[in-house]
Amino acid sequence: MEEKKLIKKYISGEDTRSYTIQLTASGNKIVAETENFSEPLRQLLAQSNPNRQFELWQGIYDLIQGLNQQGIISVQRTCTSCKHYAFKNKLPYCSLLEQKLLPKDIRIDCPEFEMA
Ligand code: SF4
Repeated sequence: MEEKKLIKKYISGEDTRSYTIQLTASGNKIVAETENFSEPLRQLLAQSNPNRQFELWQGIYDLIQGLNQQGIISVQRTCTSCKHYAFKNKLPYCSLLEQKLLPKDIRIDCPEFEMA
């Protein structure tokens, strides 16, 4: 990220092993463009026919997963890539939230995500 000029390191004057990191203007722009990228999808889904919402959500999720697996997009904050994704009684389960992950609960941009 530093080579791409998305962050800038500020080395401590007292201890050269210590430094702080700050987003550059370019880094801030990318964050602003990508944070909450799933919100427009959620809004569109909320407006769609309730009987079709799960089907649409599953389709969007499958597309994102497929594009991610092909390296076309680098979305990483999905349940199946998360270290908290598990199975309990053979059903998908989030060990952080301690809840079953029904298909409607699978997240594509989870704030609690941690890379597996
Ligand atoms: S922390 Fe979020 S992304 Fe990870 S398994 Fe739980 S709900 Fe899914």
